[in-house]
Amino acid sequence: MTDKVARFLAETVPATPCLVLDVDRVAENYRRLQTALPLARIYYAVKANPGAPILERLTGLGSFFDAASWQEVQMCLEAGADPSRVSYGNTIKKERDIAAAYAAGVRMFAFDSEAELRKLARSAPGARVYCRVFVENEGAEWPLSKKFGCEAEMAKTLMVLAGELGLDAFGISFHVGSQQTGTAPYKAAIAKVGMLFSDLEAAGVKLRMVNLGGGYPVRYKSEVPEIEEIGAAIMGAMAEHFGNALPEIVIEPGRFLVADAGTVVAEVVLVSRKGEADPVRWVYLDIGRFGGLAETEGEAIRYAFRTPHDGTPEGPVTIAGPTCDSVDTLYEKSNYRLPEALADGDRVEILSTGAYVTTYASQKFNGFAPLAEHYI
Ligand SMILES: *Cc1c(COP(=O)(O)O)cnc(C)c1O
Repeated sequence: MTDKVARFLAETVPATPCLVLDVDRVAENYRRLQTALPLARIYYAVKANPGAPILERLTGLGSFFDAASWQEVQMCLEAGADPSRVSYGNTIKKERDIAAAYAAGVRMFAFDSEAELRKLARSAPGARVYCRVFVENEGAEWPLSKKFGCEAEMAKTLMVLAGELGLDAFGISFHVGSQQTGTAPYKAAIAKVGMLFSDLEAAGVKLRMVNLGGGYPVRYKSEVPEIEEIGAAIMGAMAEHFGNALPEIVIEPGRFLVADAGTVVAEVVLVSRKGEADPVRWVYLDIGRFGGLAETEGEAIRYAFRTPHDGTPEGPVTIAGPTCDSVDTLYEKSNYRLPEALADGDRVEILSTGAYVTTYASQKFNGFAPLAEHYI
């Protein structure tokens, strides 16, 4: 948690549950990433947290944006971003949303299928398009499966077709999975894209851009590689596979820019046991899976907690949310331990929750209001 967030919490004592996010930290993360990957253009993945103060600060820093929907495109434009700096990166788009983005000036679009490419040819004529390919997601704590991307062979055919349809066959993208804790998947993906560039050049199509997607990890409960190490691995692989004919490099960080800028503050609603001799206490908070902590699904993302009793004896706990749905259990198998002194009414802080939390909150499940947000 940043000093600014700690001060705000002490002085304001905001009602729970809420997210408090230090926008200065987002700017620091942006600069650190720029330093780690100086040749890359940063397209912030808006879906990680579309809070207007974040988009406005990043616009001021000269960031580009990766939007997942026409609505997100509009949020970027409202924050002052020039449409030439916005990429419509979802491979699944309604044709009328493509047309709306194109009419607003957006000229860069992702696709991974022939049907989507034909929509782009009709509704975004002449735009820069890039094809997303499958890559290995091994090592990602939040992998992305086969929902996105296509095989390299298909990408080759589609990029040739893109040119024939009057589009600008611009480049290739991939995503190694979110919260990626290794560098090997980036290296393997870059090797694959390098081959695709050569194959397409032989077929008469000269691509100009590689989009490395997101995945850059943040520290939750366990250590992750530093961004400088990941940047060096990526640039090493780019040099190995592209020599001195480096294409334009795009990265789409989401989590890395915003996660550690934010802290969720919650209140303990109940601490109980299921049997008198049961060593495991159940700790119910006023935020859970439906309040925004969706990435606890499968206990994939394991957040760190702070309590007023830290440093005193701890015992095993299961941590759950407040709703009447058993899916609303956050951690049962990940060996969480919290202080024995923890009791209802205590405020707890859930660290590095600035990414993929606010927008995942349900509207009114069980009557609970969506998560309150404070940008400072
Ligand atoms: C979600 C997403 C990102 C951001 O991923 P992070 O792991 O948060 O960095 C980037 N690009 C695309 C296409 C995405 O879908």
